[in-house]
Amino acid sequence: MPIASTDIHRLLEAYPTVPAVGTVGSHSAIDVADGAVAEGLTSVVLTQSGRDATYARYFRTLRDPAGARRRGCVDEVWDYPKFADLATPASQERLRKRGVLLVPNRAFSSYVPLSTIESEFRVPIVGSRAMLRIEERSERDNYYGLLETAGIPAPRAIPSPEAIDRLAIVKLPHAQRRLERGFFTAATAEEYRTKSRALLARGTIAQDDLAHARIEEYVLGPVFNFNFFFSPLVPRSEGLELLGVDERRESNLDGMVRLPAAQQLELSESDRIPEYTVVGHGTLTVRESILEEVFKIGEAFVDAARARYPPGILGAFCLQTCLDHDGRPTVFDVAARIGGGTNVHLAIGHPYGNALYRGPMSTGRRIAREIRIAAAEGRLSEIVT
Ligand code: AMP
Repeated sequence: MPIASTDIHRLLEAYPTVPAVGTVGSHSAIDVADGAVAEGLTSVVLTQSGRDATYARYFRTLRDPAGARRRGCVDEVWDYPKFADLATPASQERLRKRGVLLVPNRAFSSYVPLSTIESEFRVPIVGSRAMLRIEERSERDNYYGLLETAGIPAPRAIPSPEAIDRLAIVKLPHAQRRLERGFFTAATAEEYRTKSRALLARGTIAQDDLAHARIEEYVLGPVFNFNFFFSPLVPRSEGLELLGVDERRESNLDGMVRLPAAQQLELSESDRIPEYTVVGHGTLTVRESILEEVFKIGEAFVDAARARYPPGILGAFCLQTCLDHDGRPTVFDVAARIGGGTNVHLAIGHPYGNALYRGPMSTGRRIAREIRIAAAEGRLSEIVT
């Protein structure tokens, strides 16, 4: 049984007036920690042993003898043998006692089972707990359904390999690195068969995943990931903000496109099928006349999410799009929480966020600002589930 929001709101009664900001140590944790301390809050990063040095050593808060921050933004590091252990009853108790509000990221929803998050994790989450599951393409109730309800353009689904009639992208997990992608493209059923055989033989994809893969039209156009924020603390007409835009660097796709055509053709047959492992991000702005449409899809997403998963989107979310030759965004993926590319504007802010706030405004900082305002106004229950 999913935990009722009212149960979570009751937990807040025992929270201190100024809560701490917690997040899982991966993905966007530095942005969240930086934003927390920029807003005068304490940051707590939950790490897994063996992959904690970034937070425990390199971004750890160092103080001078008088206690003033000398360097760093990770105030506390709580280390666990496995990320999933952060959801044990003892850990939950410790998080509540410390007054931690958890900012969910993809590491949290990947390493802690979704059923545990929904039904057992009794710690307030800054955002919409019920919407984390819609990212799973294998779920029936996934983001494609929400986009359709909202009337937001998404790539056309292709029902079977035989129906491939144009360039298509086949979406399934990587066979060994389960959190990575085993995506490939195909323009015909024949190409689908040849490529899938090669990738199965290579061990990049697994037969069972292939049988359940989503096949959709490939949208020709550059990727723009729109990092939005929605605040329920202000009138609805002021709630939606565009903070920044990022794009991804994917290996080995980006390595390949940096090669001149002649050298691409020299690659061995197996190296010619690119993988889409995200290894970094870049920052972008968008042609100004396109922004109008971007805000429209943001508003439509917020409205549809409120109707279908009340209370809907709270705080940060990301719509990942390709912009076609008419400048129209097609949403191919959704993060109903902080996106994975917000470190591009960490600490320095982003042109859009800064233009709104007249000073550095990153996603991490915006989240912390919301927490600070909600805490001061006694409205924390409106931003957590
Ligand atoms: P995702 O796992 O959905 O975030 O997608 C990973 C990458 O695949 C994206 O960054 C895009 O480069 C690419 N991609 C995904 N879906 C599409 C699509 N329908 N058309 C074109 N490129 C896509």
